[in-house]
Amino acid sequence: MSPTRRPAAFFDRDGVLVEDSGYVSDPADLVWIPGAGEALARVRRAGFFVFVVTNQSGVGRGYYREEDVDALHAFMQRELGDAVDAFRYCPHHPEAPVARYRRRCRCRKPAPGMIEDLLAAFPVTRATSFLVGDRDTDLEAARAAGVEGVRFAGGSLDALIEELLRTRP
Ligand SMILES: [Mg+2]
Repeated sequence: MSPTRRPAAFFDRDGVLVEDSGYVSDPADLVWIPGAGEALARVRRAGFFVFVVTNQSGVGRGYYREEDVDALHAFMQRELGDAVDAFRYCPHHPEAPVARYRRRCRCRKPAPGMIEDLLAAFPVTRATSFLVGDRDTDLEAARAAGVEGVRFAGGSLDALIEELLRTRP
């Protein structure tokens, strides 16, 4: 039996779900974007998978560890009432001071690796999926993965999602 395919909503993390205050790793420093929780709940209700795809070169730069990223994502997931189906992050950077993370990888956006991995791991309908990001690199990654890219320019994330779901086919 093949699982039911459905679309996915991919979200960048910093600057979309939480304020981009530069290499956040401590839950105490996390500030939610207005409407973030409501936006994720809304896309879930609409039948979408919810994924977070985030560049975390702070790992490769030695600012924090992979365990810290995992712990922060677990904290976010609790706050969000388990609204996220999967978190993916890229710890690499081509010039990372920490040698094991120094590489030109396929996952650091604008490369589409994280999105492609999720498309392979879940029964996603690519054609009706979208990614919300605040930077050109997010939109380039979406385009490279064949997913619609939507820019979040601030304000309420839920207002953007409400509009998006109302106006798309
Ligand atoms: Mg961002």
